[in-house]
Amino acid sequence: MAEPQGDRAGSGGRASVGLVVVSHSRALASAAVALAAEMLHGREVRIEVAAGLDDRTFGTDAVQIREAIERVDGPGGVVVLMDLGSAVLSAELALDLLDDPTARDRVILSPAPIVEGLVVASVAAAGGAGRAEVAAEARNSLMGKAAHLGGPDHLTVPEAESPAQDEVVAVFTIGNRHGLHARPAARLVAEVRGLDATVRLSNLTTGAGPVPAGSLSRVATLGALRGHDVEVRASGRQAQDAVEHLLALAARDFDEVGDGVAATPVQPSRPGPLPGSPGIGIGPARHLTAEPVEPADDAPIAEPAAEWRRIVGSVAEVRREIEHVRVLTAREAGAGAAGIFDAHLSLLSDAELLGDVKRRISAGEGATGAWVASLAAVEQEWAALPDPYLRERAQDVRAVRDQVVRVLTGSTVRRPAGDGVLVAADLTPAEAAELDPERVSGVVLTQGSASSHAAILARARNIPLVVAAGGQVLAVPEGTMLVLDGGTGELQVDPPAEVLAAFRVRGAEMAERRARELALAGQPAVSMDGTSFAVSANLGSVADAWAAVAAGAEGAGLVRTEFLFLGRSSAPDLAEQQAEYDAIGAAMDGRRVTLRTLDVGGDKPLTYLPMPAEANPFLGVRGLRLSLATPDLLRDQLTAICRSARRWPTSVMFPMVTSLDELLEARRVLTEAAGPDGVPYDLRVGIMVEVPAAALKIESFLPHVDFVSIGTNDLTQYAVAAERGNPSVAALSDALDPAVLQLVAGVCSAALGRASVSVCGEAAADELAIPLLVGLGVRELSVTPAAVPRVKARLRALDVEQCRAAAEEALSLPGPDEVRKLAMSL
Ligand code: PEP
Ligand code: MG
Repeated sequence: MAEPQGDRAGSGGRASVGLVVVSHSRALASAAVALAAEMLHGREVRIEVAAGLDDRTFGTDAVQIREAIERVDGPGGVVVLMDLGSAVLSAELALDLLDDPTARDRVILSPAPIVEGLVVASVAAAGGAGRAEVAAEARNSLMGKAAHLGGPDHLTVPEAESPAQDEVVAVFTIGNRHGLHARPAARLVAEVRGLDATVRLSNLTTGAGPVPAGSLSRVATLGALRGHDVEVRASGRQAQDAVEHLLALAARDFDEVGDGVAATPVQPSRPGPLPGSPGIGIGPARHLTAEPVEPADDAPIAEPAAEWRRIVGSVAEVRREIEHVRVLTAREAGAGAAGIFDAHLSLLSDAELLGDVKRRISAGEGATGAWVASLAAVEQEWAALPDPYLRERAQDVRAVRDQVVRVLTGSTVRRPAGDGVLVAADLTPAEAAELDPERVSGVVLTQGSASSHAAILARARNIPLVVAAGGQVLAVPEGTMLVLDGGTGELQVDPPAEVLAAFRVRGAEMAERRARELALAGQPAVSMDGTSFAVSANLGSVADAWAAVAAGAEGAGLVRTEFLFLGRSSAPDLAEQQAEYDAIGAAMDGRRVTLRTLDVGGDKPLTYLPMPAEANPFLGVRGLRLSLATPDLLRDQLTAICRSARRWPTSVMFPMVTSLDELLEARRVLTEAAGPDGVPYDLRVGIMVEVPAAALKIESFLPHVDFVSIGTNDLTQYAVAAERGNPSVAALSDALDPAVLQLVAGVCSAALGRASVSVCGEAAADELAIPLLVGLGVRELSVTPAAVPRVKARLRALDVEQCRAAAEEALSLPGPDEVRKLAMSL
């Protein structure tokens, strides 16, 4: 019963009706099956679950549903129960996918609610009812509840309501820097698709629309830019919910986070290649072996039903590919970067788009031709949008088009013929995910931008890459020598011997340096004058912990526990949290692990913690402020941390602390959470210093902490009043601003001999900042796992006295540029 795939309440004979439960949530579907089994008292019914994309990820998949239908199918037929909107679409697609054409006639897609419907349908099926009777029973399953709650007037099922009667209308204004481009639009679409409502949007500022809000291909054509007013009209049972959700989502800028791709500025147009991923790439040009296959005009076209099945199968296959790459990207480059794939997934389940494809197929076109034509229409609409950033998203449509065409035409993922510098117009997500640093020494793309998926994945793997190199590179003969610097955008085709030699020297120096640093990564970091430093790692997952140990980290100076809480519909329970912290503790193998309590807020919202929209989320209920406002959540987290601390060397750290009262309250909850055994004796308690007020009041905090960790990312944004991730103020947002250094200096001198001080913001990995931080008194740095060997090497080359003198001078300089100049001499 516990297995989500193949849950069975019995194994009744094949003549009886089989049931399939399609839900966005595997846990929900399995629980519904368990509940139904209670009513069967041992009688046998075949029930299969097709729910969730995996145990944790919400979604429905047509192939999974088809397989479930095939498993329970028999002469008695099958009744399928579905939950929200796109589950219905996936189930319909699944019918189109069935291999046995007669099976389709034996399957009934039921509009019944899944819990009541399943209970009633199971009992009816166990009693030997035929599939029509089982479906009818399920459809009427709400009657008992309706009669009980509302009398005879409520005996109609909700679907009977007229949508026109309950239209809800509202207007929201787009606040996103780049408008409603593909990623925020995909977020909007996802929000609406789950609801039982018909929602249409119009751009009041331009007059575009109305378009269905559940279709990404249509929503993007609204061309909604920052400041545009968008009208939402919703009807149906959940119309009010739909409008409220959309207004709240718009107020949160469609959850577009400031990190990752979303905040990457549009590259100014200038001739020649642009930087995409830093590093020196040298090698023979390697073109991809096969260009995207265009449909041949004379390709034989089968019956429309067969052509449509090919579309459904190919789309499902590409969905799975993209889901896989999404997980990879989230792990390697962060959740913000992984968000690019949401737009691709949304296109693949876009009912408008698929409807257009189906219409073309019914009119006699072949699968590939219909797919290409439908996608081309969307691409043209997007490419014609007036805003350049929105226009650029047409590349998302092209990527999805090519991926499906490749599956349809049987051409596999394109691969370069040999090792060297890969040259291509662009790469699909699947191709980018397959880039192998052992074989690909560099990548040249004629299209794309630094925010493309290829650039993100190349950066995550240290593969040098230039983008926007211009179409002429595609004509470069296979094997021609190419050199590139992905940090500057330099690219030379068939360079003269001296240029090639210079690039070789630069490349060799970088590679040698990396190899040297790696070879010494396991050694301690001791400066030239004999001062010891601790270099630990910032982690977001167990995989990061393994990487940290391999890179020579001496501990985990910051575990961003929010990764466990984000992107899901409910908070992880105590057991799940403890399992995660234990797994990190085990992976760190005796090294100290500093678990930071949940650090989310208006800028990183949790769907299960409704928070009021804030005009300035970075100044709102973030970090410890949010935890103290939700004490049950904080208590659970601290309980899990205490349990883990009884097994592994553990520290706990509170983020965004501003006042002593907050810290004392957090410590009180910690004592409560620790239970009768008390706070584990070895659990060290500390705070992040990332609000200038905390840095300036450090004296009052010191008696209550074992350590402090300076979060220079936030400390800088608050000290210089420049939002992190906002490219327009990026030049101001420099941790080497003497104002920030003054705050660090104050913390270090006050804490000397009383509490240890570490730095866990990005500045800890900045080679110019390191000597100054050391000079100010910092003795522990916590950085991304990959940076540990380099940071250790930098520390070994320092003389602390010299650093101290430079740091003192830096404090009196006017700005970060002068500080950088000074630091270059160290
Ligand atoms: C910081 O603010 O410097 C920090 C390390 O925390 P985060 O980047 O997670 O906000
Ligand atoms: Mg921070």
